[in-house]
Amino acid sequence: MINLLDLDLDALSASCEALGEKRFRAIQLFRWIHQRGVAEFDAMSDLARTLREKLATRACISAPPVAAEQVSADGTTKWLFDVGGGDAVESVFIPEADRGTLCVSSQAGCAVGCRFCHTGHQGFSRNLTTGEIVGQLWFAEHQLRKRLALTDGQRAIDNVVMMGMGEPLQNYAALLPALRTMLDDHGYGLSRRRVTVSTSGVVPMIDRLRVDCPVALAVSLHAPDDGLRDQLVPINRKYPIDELLRACVRYLDAAPRDFITFEYCMLDGVNDAPAQARALVGLLHGRVPCKLNLIPFNPFPASGLRRSPRERVFAFADVLQQAGIVTTIRRTRGDDIAAACGQLAGEVRDRTRAIERLTRPTIRLHPLGVDASST
Ligand code: SAH
Ligand code: SF4
Repeated sequence: MINLLDLDLDALSASCEALGEKRFRAIQLFRWIHQRGVAEFDAMSDLARTLREKLATRACISAPPVAAEQVSADGTTKWLFDVGGGDAVESVFIPEADRGTLCVSSQAGCAVGCRFCHTGHQGFSRNLTTGEIVGQLWFAEHQLRKRLALTDGQRAIDNVVMMGMGEPLQNYAALLPALRTMLDDHGYGLSRRRVTVSTSGVVPMIDRLRVDCPVALAVSLHAPDDGLRDQLVPINRKYPIDELLRACVRYLDAAPRDFITFEYCMLDGVNDAPAQARALVGLLHGRVPCKLNLIPFNPFPASGLRRSPRERVFAFADVLQQAGIVTTIRRTRGDDIAAACGQLAGEVRDRTRAIERLTRPTIRLHPLGVDASST
């Protein structure tokens, strides 16, 4: 049984051709699935009965089942999707006055293991399939259209950020067809500028994405120097800041926006000093056209870290802005339902952590006195 949510339009066309059908049939089918949210072949009234019967014996349209739904006081909605084997991943819908954003997961857990991230603390279980990535959008879009009583042609989600659980660029093979389906005019028709891949800095894959499917890019920086970034974002040991920034500059050649967004999670006493803001200016100014997005740290038990006080965040932003770097401070949404950045944990059976513990050096944020011995 093949799950049609796993296929972008080219792959669906190839499958249809194998059944002796022309490409325009694949387009019809794709539109039924993604634009109309239909999961039953029988309801696809303009497809020939013989084709519908053939499809019913060979294919299905199946998103991961929803295990839980929570709606926050501010309208933010979080779904927990059961992806089997004891794993579950989360997606978050964030309504705003002028648009709706869906934050989508790419992996059950994450192998990068960032110091301040709940997902990272859980370890890694497995990559999601394309169908599980697209399934989050397919389900959310069509459920929200019903909930919001939208008429045909109106969409609930016009912005997708790959900022849920997982490192999307460590699941590139599944990510790529998912992005193509999001962008396809016969699929979700989202603009490249409104689909954002957020990465901790998998340099070779940033280059692949630039060639294969340049969408908006957000890079999780979190530190102005390699010493600190090595500790906060362990992948920095493999791809240090200089290499990462070079990849960002190359990406801009093809990017739909003329800047890179850098995310910077504000950790009290760790990376939020004015001197660190100045170091960041020194690093970025005149080198990478960018915007800085400061994210107040969302605490979770066992992180051993604290959110920077507001004044410190403002002072940090001020240094950047004075230097001409556009800086925003992310408003925390949905934290009453643990739906804010970095709080997504789902339920993940860690299949790596035991091994990692044996091989990974202990992380210690020594200059700043944060006790990280629990990691
Ligand atoms: N793996 C990708 C995308 C998922 S994380 C990445 O790291 O970019 C999405 C964003 O949330 C990243 O910028 C990440 O650094 C940030 N984040 C993770 N944990 C957080 C926390 N506890 N508080 C605030 N932001 C967090
Ligand atoms: Fe993985 Fe991103 Fe969390 Fe780091 S911040 S552990 S890369 S999900």
